Amino acid sequence: MQIFEKSIHFANGAKVFMAEENGVTFLYAEGDFGFAGEKTEVEGKAVVKAPLTHENACVLRKVFPFTAPIRVLGKERSFGVGDRLGIATPGHIEVFAGYDAYPVLAQQSMRELTLTNRTYEDVLDCVTFATFRDNFTKGFGADGDHLKKAEDVRYALELGYTMITLDCSDHIRNDVAEMDDAAVAAAYTKNAAIEERYIGKSFDVGEGITVSFDEAALRRIVLVYGKAIAFATSIYETFFKDGKYNADFEISIDETLTPTTPLEHFFVANELTIAGVHFETMAPRFCGEFQKGIDYIGDLKQFTEEMTVHSQIARHFGYKLSIHSGSDKFSTFPIIGEKTRGIFHVKTAGTNWLEAMRVVAMVDPKLYREIHAYALEAFDEATKYYHVTTDLSKIPALDTVSDADLPKYFDQNDARQLIHITYGLILSRKNVDGSFTFRDKLYTLWKENEKTYTEALLRHIGKHLDLLGVQHA
Ligand code: ZN
Repeated sequence: MQIFEKSIHFANGAKVFMAEENGVTFLYAEGDFGFAGEKTEVEGKAVVKAPLTHENACVLRKVFPFTAPIRVLGKERSFGVGDRLGIATPGHIEVFAGYDAYPVLAQQSMRELTLTNRTYEDVLDCVTFATFRDNFTKGFGADGDHLKKAEDVRYALELGYTMITLDCSDHIRNDVAEMDDAAVAAAYTKNAAIEERYIGKSFDVGEGITVSFDEAALRRIVLVYGKAIAFATSIYETFFKDGKYNADFEISIDETLTPTTPLEHFFVANELTIAGVHFETMAPRFCGEFQKGIDYIGDLKQFTEEMTVHSQIARHFGYKLSIHSGSDKFSTFPIIGEKTRGIFHVKTAGTNWLEAMRVVAMVDPKLYREIHAYALEAFDEATKYYHVTTDLSKIPALDTVSDADLPKYFDQNDARQLIHITYGLILSRKNVDGSFTFRDKLYTLWKENEKTYTEALLRHIGKHLDLLGVQHA
C-alpha cells in the first residue's frame, strides 16, 4: 500500500488520506465521517477503506470543503481547463498552484460528456479526489459548459457546479446576415420601447468610446439577438435570480456564423442589464478564427481594435470578457492581457488532450502509429462536429517519420487538428468483441506516465498564462 503524502488531512482530530493498493486508489478514514466502504486496519488503527465513488466524493466535499468547487468568475483572472479524460487535473493543479489565476478544473459541455461517455457527477468527482490527493486548497470552479437547455442547467446546478455557461446560439438568427434591409424590415416586429431607447442615440462607455445606433442597424440587431436575450433572461429568472444556487452565470453568444460586433455586444449587455439579468461574464465571438488547437487565424490589428472596444464595454457594465476556444491562441494573448487590463476568463478544452497524445507519441510509438492511422480514417466523420481548415496532405505520412520524431506531429497545425477533433472517435472506438480499441490502453499508459504528462501540461498551459501576463504566485 502506497500512501499519497500530500493527501494526509485531519478533520475533528481524525486522519483521512488516500493510498494506492494494487494500482487502485482508495480513501482511508480513521474517524466516522460517513464514507461507505469496508472496515479494516492500517498500522494498527481501525479505518474505513472507501472506494472513489460519487457517494464518497459527496462526503469528502462536506468534510473538506476545499475539494468542492467555488465561484471563480468574480476573481480577476480565471482560466478554464476542462479535463475531458479525468487524468489532467493533477497537472492542472501544479500549474495553477504557481500562478495568480483561478482554474475551472471541472468543465465540460454536453457534447463532450457524450463523446467521452462521462457524466457531470464523474467529471466533478475526479477533480474532488485529485484536489484532495494533491492538497490543492486554493479553490477551483466547476462549469456546466455550453448548456442549451433548462434541464441541463438544473442538472449541473443541483450537483453543485458553480458556473453555468449558457449557450444562446440556438436562439441567435444566423440567417439575418444574408438578408437585405428590406427583408429585415419585413421580418422585424416593431418594438416602440426599444426604438425609443436606441434610434439616434449614442452611448458613452468610457475611455472616449461611444456606440450609436441607426434604425436599420437596430432592426437587424433585434432580429438576430432578440430571442437570445429573452432566453437568457428566462434562464436567469428560473435559476439565478433568487440566489438558491451559489453559482456564476456566463452568457455565451460565440457559437454563431458571424463575429459579434461591438455594437451588438453593447446591445445584448444593455438589454440584459435593463431586464435585471446579472451575469459575471460574456463570451462574444471575436473577429478572425479561433479554431481548435492552433493559433489565431486573422488580422491581429483588427483584433486589437475590437478587443479594445469589447473590453471597455465589459468594464462599463461591470462584467468580465470570456474568451472561448482559447487554447493555443498565443498571438492574441498579450493583446487580451493588455486590453482587459488583466481581468478575464479564458477557456481551453482540448489542448490537454493533445498534450496527453504527445505523451503517447513519446513513450509508445507503436500505439501512437495505430491511433494516428485510425484518426486519418475517422477524420471526415469528425468534421461533422467541428469547423476546421485542416489540410491532411500537409501532414507527413507515418512511414516517413521515425519513432523519435513522432512527437513533432504536435508542433504541426494540421496534425494537431487531426488528433484534436477525432478525440471522441478515438476514445469510443470498439473492437468486434465490444472491447475498446484504444481507450483502456491509453488510460493505462497515462497512469504509468503521470509525471511526464504533468510536465507537458506545466510547459504548455504555463505558456498560455505567461503570454496572458499572469504573474507567478
Ligand atoms: Zn464557446
